[in-house]
Amino acid sequence: MNAPYDAGLLERIRKDLSSEPKKLFIDGEWAGAKSGETFETKDPATGDVLAEVASAGAEDVDLAVRAARKAFEGVWRQTKPDERTRLLLKLADLVEQNGAELALMETLDVGRPIAFSRFADVGGAIGQARYHAGWATKLYGETTEVSAPGEWLSYTLREPVGVCGQIVPWNFPLAMAMGKIAPALAAGCTVVLKPAEQTPLTTIRLAELIAEAGIPDGVVNILTGFGRTAGAALAAHPDIDKVAFTGSTQTGRAIIDAAKVNFKRVQLELGGKSPTFVFDDANLEKAIPAAAMSIFFNAGQVCAAGSRLFVHEKVADKVLEGVAGMAKMLKVGGTLDPETQIGPLVSPEQLERVTGYIDLGKQEGASVLVGGNRIGESGNFVEPTVLLETGPEARVRQEEIFGPVLCAMRFSDDDDIDRLAQFGNETEYGLSASIFTSDISRAHKLARRLRSGSVRVNGSGGVDPALPLGGFKSSGWGRENGKAGAEAYTELKAVTVEL
Ligand code: ADP
Repeated sequence: MNAPYDAGLLERIRKDLSSEPKKLFIDGEWAGAKSGETFETKDPATGDVLAEVASAGAEDVDLAVRAARKAFEGVWRQTKPDERTRLLLKLADLVEQNGAELALMETLDVGRPIAFSRFADVGGAIGQARYHAGWATKLYGETTEVSAPGEWLSYTLREPVGVCGQIVPWNFPLAMAMGKIAPALAAGCTVVLKPAEQTPLTTIRLAELIAEAGIPDGVVNILTGFGRTAGAALAAHPDIDKVAFTGSTQTGRAIIDAAKVNFKRVQLELGGKSPTFVFDDANLEKAIPAAAMSIFFNAGQVCAAGSRLFVHEKVADKVLEGVAGMAKMLKVGGTLDPETQIGPLVSPEQLERVTGYIDLGKQEGASVLVGGNRIGESGNFVEPTVLLETGPEARVRQEEIFGPVLCAMRFSDDDDIDRLAQFGNETEYGLSASIFTSDISRAHKLARRLRSGSVRVNGSGGVDPALPLGGFKSSGWGRENGKAGAEAYTELKAVTVEL
């Protein structure tokens, strides 16, 4: 896990960040917000200010939407699919070439340990760009026979949706920005994207690379700013055709409300409270670290985090001991230390929220197997925590905490597949689930019964851009990634010709 970084590069990044306020990227130009307002972005490990950043308002959103509309009707419409592929591949190469810098910047801004930001953030972004680049030449309609009297030629066209407003959260800023921009560009759409106010830095750098790649002006516009101002204005803008959002379920509702003004297409990837099931026939050498890292990786700030563990009573002691052992062993600490495995939570607000939930869990009757406390007085660090035997109605078992807090429950042979599926489906969410068992039928039966956008069996690891990502129920609308994600940036048109 040794991932040394270049101290000289770090110094250059810090110097550049503190030199002058970062600007908005509109129509290929850099400009301050019309209001002149800025905000600070901070290092979550130290609380130090990293940079001052322009705070976009409704006027800036309007300018960016105009630029995106002009590009959509003009230069981008004339750009052939294979050229869009080439540009996205070029962008991926530039992200790769600047990987060391982007990884350090992400570590500073998000609080991700340096050992992870290279593959999770930079690798994730490159993977997204390369995967979606291929879709530019592979989106097309179909011919179909109709039954109307006469002779007809009928076919469908897949056309780009248009101008897309994209709003991303703070947990994987660079990879998520690319995961939104790349499929939109592949389909021929143009974009106005807002990173989260906590983590704008790598997206600003990405805008520079977008220009360097030769992607025409106005095709991608980047607006830094707050949700209640820039984000809300994007979701409500009448000339935006689609809004794609990743974030909290609560904000998802606000987006739906705002989007109804012009019936925008709405894509939402929201919260989760994902279950992990470990049966008594599971390979525990795999299941234990997977269950632990599913909730502790990135300090639990992952929408698909496995935050509820259901473990068969015959192996429960061993599994819980193993998970608790990992919780104690994982190195929580400074994000630039290459040995660090768990960094801080992104902000003091998140720290308060997560420790508040741990206290609530105790009030609700849960016992704390391991962790349960803030670490230190500075930085937003919290111990990896396991709460035992929470009741089905307990808020800590129902609500998304977005921190390294696992609720663990035992089940027995009396709990059949339907009962276990009920446990899995007991929350309002339905994003992801994991199953560890060596009984192949049981795995597939449970997978079918879970109301969940993805189910992983006997394995852990990240998402792949080839797999659709999204949720059932309050976890969202639509799917990103895969064919479904690429097609979600198209409108379908039926053309029929009487011959
Ligand atoms: P989180 O709890 O992850 O911060 P949010 O849903 O608040 O989740 O934030 C995710 C993204 O949504 C951020 O970019 C944020 O600025 C933006 N956002 C927050 N509120 C709104 C809103 N009312 N309209 C549009 N975007 C918003």
